[in-house]
Amino acid sequence: MTILSRRALLGASAALAAPAPAAFAQGAFPNRPITMIVPFAAGGPTDTVGRLIAQVMGNDLGQPMVVENVGGAGGTLGAQRVAQARPDGYTVLLHHIGMSTIPALYRRLAYDPINGFETLGLVTEVPMTLVARRNFPAANLAELVQVVRRERDRINLANAGVGAASHLCGLLFQKAIDTAVTTVPYRGTGPAMNDLVGGTVDLMCDQTTNTTEQIRATTIKGFAVTTDRRVPSLNELPTAAEAGLPNFEVTVWHGLYAPRGTPAPIAARLNQALVKALRDETIERRFAELGTTPVAAERATPEVHRAFWQADTAKWRPLIQAAGQYAD
Ligand code: ASP
Repeated sequence: MTILSRRALLGASAALAAPAPAAFAQGAFPNRPITMIVPFAAGGPTDTVGRLIAQVMGNDLGQPMVVENVGGAGGTLGAQRVAQARPDGYTVLLHHIGMSTIPALYRRLAYDPINGFETLGLVTEVPMTLVARRNFPAANLAELVQVVRRERDRINLANAGVGAASHLCGLLFQKAIDTAVTTVPYRGTGPAMNDLVGGTVDLMCDQTTNTTEQIRATTIKGFAVTTDRRVPSLNELPTAAEAGLPNFEVTVWHGLYAPRGTPAPIAARLNQALVKALRDETIERRFAELGTTPVAAERATPEVHRAFWQADTAKWRPLIQAAGQYAD
C-alpha cells in the first residue's frame, strides 16, 4: 500500500493534518465539475443511486458532480475508465457488488480490479426482486418456478452482462430451481426494464431501486424479494425463502471509488461530502421509497469500505470458481 493510499484510509481529520499537495493547499479542490462514472446505462438502479448522490455531493462540494454512464461488459468498461483516469479527484466511480465478483469472473481485464482504486466509502445496501413481464402466466413464485421449469427452452432472463448484480441474482435463481434458461444481456437494467415492460423479455432479477415503482404501477409482476426479511416499501412481496426458495438470497451494495493514487486530502474531501449526502433528508426519503437505505455513517468510511469489499471478494471467488462460469 502506498503512503498516499494509506493516508486516504485515515479519513478526514488525519488528512487535514497531513501535508497537502499544492492544489489542495490553495483550497482549489474542486475548482471544476467532477465526473461520476456510472458503469451501467442511464435509468437503471445504479444510475438512480448515482444521480441522487451526485446532486447532493455536488452541492456540498460547490461544483457539479456530473454523471456519465459508461455501460457495457457487466460494468467493467466504466470501472476501467476510472482505474485509468488521472488520480486528481475529478473522476469517481459509483459501482456495486460487481466490484467483488468481477475479479473472479473476468480473468483478463485491461485494469487492476482490486488495486486500481481508492475506496471513498460505502453508500447503500439494496434488496433485489425477482420480476416478470406483466402477463407472465404465474400468480406466485411456486407457479413461476413450475412455468420456468416446463418452458425452460422458451423463457428468457434479462441481465446487465456478466458481473452485473442482475447476472449474479439470475444465476442464483437458476441454481435454486436447478433450471437453466436463456439470458439476454443489456448495458444496464434500465434498458432491460423497458423490454420487460414491453413484454419482449420474460424475467429479470433487479434492485428494488429499479423495480419498486414498476411493480406498484403493475407494469411488471413482482414475485419475491431476495433478502431474509420483507422490504417495507414492497411489503406484499414474500421473501424468496417464505415463497419456497431458501437458497436464493442476495443483497447489492454500492460504494464510491477514486483512481488509485488520488491524494489523501482530496479523497478525504470527497468522503466528507459523501457522508453528508447520506444524511440528507431527500436522499433518505427517496432511498426509503425505493426500498433501500443509506449506510450508517460509520460504514461510509474508506477503511470499512475496503475491508468489506475485500471480504466480499473473498466470499464470491470460491463460489464463482466452483460454478466454473467465467466471462471470458
Ligand atoms: N442493476 C444492474 C445490474 O444488474 C445494473 C444497472 O443497470 O444499474 O447490476
